[in-house]
Amino acid sequence: MSRTVYVNGEYLPEAAAKVSVFDRGFLFADAVYEVTAVVNSKLVDFAGHYARLVRSCGELGLTLAVDENGLREIHQRLIVENALQEGGIYLQLTRGNSGDRDFHFPPASTPPTLVLFTQARAVVDHPAASKGIRVVTCPDIRWQRRDIKTVQLLAPCLAKAFAEAQGADDAFLVENGYITEGSSCNCYIVQDDNTVVTRPLSNSILHGITRKALVKLAEEHGVTIEERLFTPEEARNAREVFISSATTFVWPVIAVDGQTIGDGKPGPITQLLRRIYLQML
Ligand code: PMP
Repeated sequence: MSRTVYVNGEYLPEAAAKVSVFDRGFLFADAVYEVTAVVNSKLVDFAGHYARLVRSCGELGLTLAVDENGLREIHQRLIVENALQEGGIYLQLTRGNSGDRDFHFPPASTPPTLVLFTQARAVVDHPAASKGIRVVTCPDIRWQRRDIKTVQLLAPCLAKAFAEAQGADDAFLVENGYITEGSSCNCYIVQDDNTVVTRPLSNSILHGITRKALVKLAEEHGVTIEERLFTPEEARNAREVFISSATTFVWPVIAVDGQTIGDGKPGPITQLLRRIYLQML
């Protein structure tokens, strides 16, 4: 089925949705993005994703010409036009097309490019949520502003290819001996005392919207979260390991670098956090 895609104010059949070859998103990855989950045709935590988009734009001097309500309406119209029940909406905002390839930023009057499209996929009943995933660790070769959600995703693509070549589902990235985050998710380990450990927020990781919700929910349900660095070895020996992101919510990790976590089945803290996250929707 051909999707309806949003491009700069127009709702177009996907085959007609086009962006210039001179667009700075294409030439320089001069662009930011967001992905908001959709469950039962409703947006999950749209306010959180909008707030992070505004922050990303602010950090890069990108102009977001549409306000929160305007953007919510575009998302909602795409849900209706594409009869989307479950999945996500991808949004990309670029510094636009200045008519040539030029390293210098174009005049501020250059219109940005805003594209949104829907992606139908299972979120609530995804098999990985009950089976868990296997991850391998690999070096984090990304730039130093991972807190900005830019479309420079070659390093995560390479990490996922590395994981696939090892027969794993995903990769955890390692810098200076510590796990930063997953190729497209935040990472957590559960210690023997049931404390959940996750890396503190900094420029080294993306400030996950799902992470933010989980930290709050965990505290409300008496699960202690400790924000500190942790090593691949700690992850391999943890009682439980899990990930979070907008389109996975919470997925158990059942092996790290080939080492089975716990009894190789999703652990109770992971399952509890996934359950309370789903209840919140
Ligand atoms: N870290 C990285 C590198 C990611 O790509 C993502 C997913 N966008 C996340 C963390 C999780 O963030 P969120 O919960 O906002 O999807």
